[in-house]
Amino acid sequence: MNRKTLLAAILGLALLAAAPLITSNSYYIHMIGTIMIYAILLYGLDIVVGYTGQVSLGHAGLFGIGSYTAGVLFIKLGAPLWLIIPASIAVTAGFGALLALPALRVTGPYLAMVTLAFGTIIQILINEMTFLTEGPLGITIPKPTIFGEKLTEHGFYWLVFALMVVSLVVVDRILKSQLGRAFEALRGSPVASDCMGVSVYRYKVYAFVISAGFAGLAGCLYAYSEQYISPNSYNFELTVLFLLAVIMGGRKTRSGALLGAAIIVILPKLLDDLELFRIVAASLAVLMLVGGIIGVAKKITTPRAMAIPVVGTIALAGFAFWLQSITDWRLSIFGLMILFVVYYLQNGIVGFVRALFHVRKPVVRHGQADMGKDAISVAAGSQTAEKGGNLLTAQGILMQFGGLKAINQVDLHIRRGTIHGLIGPNGSGKSTMMNVLTGIYVPTAGSIDFAGRSVVGRTSSDIALSGIARTFQNVQLFGEMTALQNVQVGLHHTFDSNIVDVALHTPRYRREETSAIQRGMGLLAFVGLADLADEEARNLPYGKQRLLEIARALALDPQLLLLDEPAAGLTAPDIKELIDIIRKIRDHGITVILIEHHMDVVMGLCDTVSVLDFGQKIAEGKPADVQADEKVIEAYLGGTVA
Ligand code: ADP
Ligand code: MG
Repeated sequence: MNRKTLLAAILGLALLAAAPLITSNSYYIHMIGTIMIYAILLYGLDIVVGYTGQVSLGHAGLFGIGSYTAGVLFIKLGAPLWLIIPASIAVTAGFGALLALPALRVTGPYLAMVTLAFGTIIQILINEMTFLTEGPLGITIPKPTIFGEKLTEHGFYWLVFALMVVSLVVVDRILKSQLGRAFEALRGSPVASDCMGVSVYRYKVYAFVISAGFAGLAGCLYAYSEQYISPNSYNFELTVLFLLAVIMGGRKTRSGALLGAAIIVILPKLLDDLELFRIVAASLAVLMLVGGIIGVAKKITTPRAMAIPVVGTIALAGFAFWLQSITDWRLSIFGLMILFVVYYLQNGIVGFVRALFHVRKPVVRHGQADMGKDAISVAAGSQTAEKGGNLLTAQGILMQFGGLKAINQVDLHIRRGTIHGLIGPNGSGKSTMMNVLTGIYVPTAGSIDFAGRSVVGRTSSDIALSGIARTFQNVQLFGEMTALQNVQVGLHHTFDSNIVDVALHTPRYRREETSAIQRGMGLLAFVGLADLADEEARNLPYGKQRLLEIARALALDPQLLLLDEPAAGLTAPDIKELIDIIRKIRDHGITVILIEHHMDVVMGLCDTVSVLDFGQKIAEGKPADVQADEKVIEAYLGGTVA
């Protein structure tokens, strides 16, 4: 975080802390308190929605579980605050794991529906389990007692403030650590995450559990804040509001969560009061109209781009004056706002403001690359480059998709320390072979032995961690993450720190993070991307993206590296650079399997070449022999290579 943002954040928080001293109006104090409680939930929801990219409509349910854990513990056991807070967090986190289960099977609209059902079931259960929850009657719970003193309205406000700040710091630290990178990676490319040893399965569950923990804390504080809870509070409208807050405030920012919380607390109050709504709608229309005219006059925007927002807000104002009663329309108005935000403010208000002032996301950096050392050994404990002996043996591999035998009885023997070429016409099964070797597909038949262990049936992340790294034919980077962060995802396996280390920034975590930055920078330097370390991967030119994928794969410290058409789409000078890089990789003792269409690359680099055609191996041997083979020329090369 740079100085200015830090200063602004501290100033803002100080103002929040001082609010009870500025106004003693308990209505406002309670309202700001509620905003902070919602913010705690939204920090957590943003982990799931903003970072892992999953939709959750179950967070009102989780919020309810937090509240009811507090309520039930209080009325049944008279439990004190110091027990109720951790219990609410723990119980809700447990339900978070339950909510994660569907996310492991479905995504997108299906996940939205399943999580919505989860929320509804929770609400019904709270309603029906009268013996525990008092059902529709609800639970009354007084303000908590600390050190034998019952907290006043102000005392409770400061408690909420303190916990909100703690949550803010903890969430921020989590998201900037290897955990946050894992969450973001599985949004960027689940298959690449798995192949970098970051189990999508595990980190989706973590994300939901951590997210739910914050929902539990928020729910618990909400119960104390309202002093009365009933099942009706945790309804569909609330869950939509939460989602709206994350999207509107701006995903992947903590300030956005706070802003979103403020909007959803104030908005319903606004929509309760028709007069106020009319005034706001009318002012909004005037603002939009004036802003639009100025924008068009100054050529910042076009009349076409402004037409819909201007007409829309004027229509909204007209609608406000036509309305007789607002209550029936609340949900529709929320819905419209979501639509508007999704269309016009895709990065939320905070994202929009950032774009307006060209503020780049701050770069966190705790260390520097150690350029003095040989880049690749900084990253990889370079292996003894002894040749001979098979590192990988695949026998009788059959991969069947329905009736199609994409790979048909193929044997591969990859000698340690060599570059093994895999060539063949399009659709001959080369990429499928890589997918089988990395656990993305389980072969229909056949065995694969890698460094003395069977590969078949193990998960991709497990295989990756045992030493097989890869790149993809269609580049699979984590687009919204920087080049350095992409490589750091590959270095995930170097972290032993758990969430407590991350939250407290223990020496162990600091050491590991510093080393990950050094090794990451070293690897970027190795492929010539050190200057672009802080650029988002999606903004890199195509050739650089391919190189970045190689750097990321090397971060895994692999014994075997699979490259799927690394030269595709590269310019001639880039290809020369690539050849040098692959040679250096081999010289470090890393065995390489290379799929490539550029024959000069294959012939220049490979020690052995296997040729596939229609899923079958039709030739194998030294590059020159293969090139001269009748069958190969007929099936594939067609005489173009001589
Ligand atoms: P190559 O990489 O050699 O160009 P691929 O391995 O991508 O070829 O594909 C080999 C064959 O397997 C193609 O006919 C392709 O359509 C088929 N194939 C690959 N993956 C699948 C899949 N998941 N489902 C069905 N068919 C597939
Ligand atoms: Mg392919």
